Amino acid sequence: MLALQGAFARHMSALEQISTSERPIDAREVRTPEQLADVDALVLPGGESTTISKLLVTSGLREPLGQRLAEGLPVFGTCAGMILLSDEILDPRSDQFSFEQIDLSVRRNGYGRQIASFEVDLPVDGLDEAFRAVFIRAPIAERVGDKVEVLASVDGTPVLMRQNNVLVASFHPELTPDARLHELFVTSAVAASG
Ligand code: GLN
Repeated sequence: MLALQGAFARHMSALEQISTSERPIDAREVRTPEQLADVDALVLPGGESTTISKLLVTSGLREPLGQRLAEGLPVFGTCAGMILLSDEILDPRSDQFSFEQIDLSVRRNGYGRQIASFEVDLPVDGLDEAFRAVFIRAPIAERVGDKVEVLASVDGTPVLMRQNNVLVASFHPELTPDARLHELFVTSAVAASG
């Protein structure tokens, strides 16, 4: 769990909630390159992508994390985390960067002021029942590349997507007690580590 800024505590709880004796999850907070070297998968939380960008640089994590991602580290990016993984940020601040791990062009705060925050019951590919999705100043995926698999959309806009070991959501799956998307991520991360 990247724990530099933002909504990481609730993600930790979700990961602890789905840990079982058959498939234990040793959820850890990552703030240093040494801690990063010890993990098999990583969640990038929501928060403020510009702030997280800066802290990635000052913590010395930018380069080693870029390296791990290039090597296929399974990663789940939510909201600001999705921005940090997208190939293109349409309205970046000059001091902000992305790891370019999924073929998306995203616009920060893309839902505008009026509907900056909202909730929907979201049908998700592979889940029997809808997932209550909480959007908070969420990014919009304005372009979605061919290699990206869309798992859920709201009004035609993709909001949950996957490309290889990279899973992204423009909403906050950690804010509801439902941990099925964390389960989906962990299951695919275990499969990827083979
Ligand atoms: N608007 C934020 C950003 O640009 C993301 C909001 C969130 O993560 N809830 O980083």
